[in-house]
Amino acid sequence: MKIAIAGATGQLGQLVIDALLARGADPAQLIALGRSEEKLAPLAGKGIETRVADYNVEAGLVSALEGVDKLLLISGSEVGQRITQHENVIQAAQRVNVSLIAYTSVANALTGNMKLAQEHVATEQLLAGSGIDYVLLRNGWYTENYTDQLMGYLNSGVVLGAAGDGRISAAPRADYAEAAAAILLSEENEAGKIYELGGDKSFTLSQLAGAVGAAAGQEVAYQDVEPEQLVTIYTESGVPAQFAEILVDTDLRVREGALEINSSDLSRLIGRSTTSLGKAIKDVLAK
Ligand code: NAP
Repeated sequence: MKIAIAGATGQLGQLVIDALLARGADPAQLIALGRSEEKLAPLAGKGIETRVADYNVEAGLVSALEGVDKLLLISGSEVGQRITQHENVIQAAQRVNVSLIAYTSVANALTGNMKLAQEHVATEQLLAGSGIDYVLLRNGWYTENYTDQLMGYLNSGVVLGAAGDGRISAAPRADYAEAAAAILLSEENEAGKIYELGGDKSFTLSQLAGAVGAAAGQEVAYQDVEPEQLVTIYTESGVPAQFAEILVDTDLRVREGALEINSSDLSRLIGRSTTSLGKAIKDVLAK
């Protein structure tokens, strides 16, 4: 049984490989796919076969997927180009008879109305029309989307957002990676399953600010900002305009519950509680 991970060189992909190995996968069973030979090299060092595969190049994808039984398709990072890219991967998988594709979609893909979800919804539709068995890992927000900004929160004393009292069921990448590994190694028939994955305990951005302040022993407050103003703040800090709009749209949809997940799929798959926001913050502060 050969398991390939597309997007293996990314942050989630590397954690998936670690989680697969920790769960007893034989390195000889794994194939790491990435577009950069240089980034693949450390994975080869773990005894894993590596193959170069760019989501933009279907012919290369076909040879890269030769002999693969299960494929984890980690959604690409080039927002706006991902439908064509994912279609290339799915078509290549059809050509070589991959038996199962696990796709990292987004939480509440069909109901959350987030602009960010549009390419994921389109990919889910491509999978449905492909004739290949597939399983959807609808990942919620990464806790790192916030903890990566910890120093900014502490320096300014504020968390800025436009999410009001909307709740976010975030979990660290490592938790989602463990879930992906569990599904890839599962002996159950995963075809047709949809997992809504998120942290056990949701939080508001006010609670995020409170948790950061409490962990660091200083005052940090949440400040809700007008959407247009938040777009300007993001673009002035270097976020590309189109992506700034998407981020602010996400906050507005969070108000309506787009990133709140009321399933316990993630903790069930990983066999433990998801990593709490407080622990994630403490881990970053300890570094
Ligand atoms: P990441 O570190 O940016 O990794 C993205 C992976 O996709 C990398 O391996 C990257 O390759 C690969 N990739 C991008 N374009 C490609 C192409 N044209 N051909 C082949 N590979 C390509 O992101 P991550 O943190 O691991 O997250 C995984 C995915 O989750 C992201 O790509 C995005 O779709 C989604 N995401 C989710 C959240 C969330 O909060 N749930 C947040 C951000 C993103 P390189 O290493 O060569 O760049």
